[in-house]
Amino acid sequence: MIKFQPEQDDLAFDRTHIWHPYTSLLDPLPTYPVVSAEGVMLKLEDGRQLIDGMASWWSAIHGYNHPHLNQALAAQSQQMSHVMFGGITHPPAVALCRKLVELTPQPLEAVFLADSGSIAVEVAIKIALQYQTSRGNMRKQRLATIRRGYHGDTFATMAVCDPINGMHEHFRGVLPEHYFVPAPEITPEQTWDPAEIAPVQVLFEQHHESIAAFILEPIVQGAGGMRFYHPEYLKALRALTERYDILLIADEIATGFGRTGKLFACEHANIVPDILCLGKALTGGYMTLAATLTTLDIAHSIGRGPHKVLMHGPTFMGNPLACAVAHASLELIQRGDWQQQVPRIEQELRAGLAPCLQGEGVVDVRVFGAIGVVEFAQPLDVARVQAVLVEDGIWIRPFGRLLYVMPPYISETKHIAALTAAMVKISNIFP
Ligand SMILES: *Cc1c(COP(=O)(O)O)cnc(C)c1O
Repeated sequence: MIKFQPEQDDLAFDRTHIWHPYTSLLDPLPTYPVVSAEGVMLKLEDGRQLIDGMASWWSAIHGYNHPHLNQALAAQSQQMSHVMFGGITHPPAVALCRKLVELTPQPLEAVFLADSGSIAVEVAIKIALQYQTSRGNMRKQRLATIRRGYHGDTFATMAVCDPINGMHEHFRGVLPEHYFVPAPEITPEQTWDPAEIAPVQVLFEQHHESIAAFILEPIVQGAGGMRFYHPEYLKALRALTERYDILLIADEIATGFGRTGKLFACEHANIVPDILCLGKALTGGYMTLAATLTTLDIAHSIGRGPHKVLMHGPTFMGNPLACAVAHASLELIQRGDWQQQVPRIEQELRAGLAPCLQGEGVVDVRVFGAIGVVEFAQPLDVARVQAVLVEDGIWIRPFGRLLYVMPPYISETKHIAALTAAMVKISNIFP
């Protein structure tokens, strides 16, 4: 077991040499040393315990150090940790893909195992483009999406992230230019107005001949703003994509596996996409693995196309350790505890976060499934807010103007109460 080396000042080394997500080595933000995690608790080096409100960015849905997942990982490591997927297959990959085909709506029956969420989206884009060329639609080479989306950090995915709070300005001239329509504004609680889909209709009328696919996060827009929109929008979009021969890519990397109260967020609208991206919670937060699913119809069409093969194949594709843990995580999903846990957490978040609205700087409080969001008028000072939260035994990472939680499904009532109390406190002390 590797431990921190105080005499070598590991934290100073970290600050000086190691990039964390979206950080500067010139002006690093504080990092907190976590040495172990169990259930919903993160344990700091000094022995303090923090209740985790983030589930390690949507992923640790069953909690940390879970015996069933540990067992799957240990058992597979005794067989083989990795083997190339080119020309070789293995039991964990087959078992996992069987479960993915079983759990996802028909007719999504073709699976590509990707090594991260961003790559799953890259593969989805390749599938869409190769499908269109295979049918002689050589001009269908662009994508369409809604604003305020987030689909990953690689170049193809950045190009479909929100053009303003995404990274377009930093990489102008390098990113391909796609079509954007306004993000839907009508929330799931409001009455839907068909006028909201009109911009998509107009876009498709004018440009359908150059659009291969429409990509979006169903119902919940995650990292691009933590926004929830009406299922009727998704339903209307599905109808339009069908009418104009445009594929629909549902990015359920954040929403998949029960987070919104349904196994997949598309179920809120009763629609099935042509391509589905899964990631984050796929391995219960143990390791990186993602998947892109599509129909056999689309897969076979690519097979008949000019390239014949799907043009992707990462070195660590179908990693057996990751597949074995993902398979074990899906077993827990199939056991179904999340079906009681998520609605209970939703209720507790609603009640617990309501007082945040009294905070002077708070402009909105919203909850959907096991996701709770407090939106402020001004960006939060991450380091200061985080220091207050850690002092109170809470791990929540503010992002821009947002303070939000998506806790592990195993969080008990007392844990949700502590998280919401901390968020109320922040709403009262930070303008
Ligand atoms: C996190 C996320 C991604 C990117 O996944 P990574 O594993 O971080 O590459 C893509 N789409 C959505 C909706 C996400 O939430």
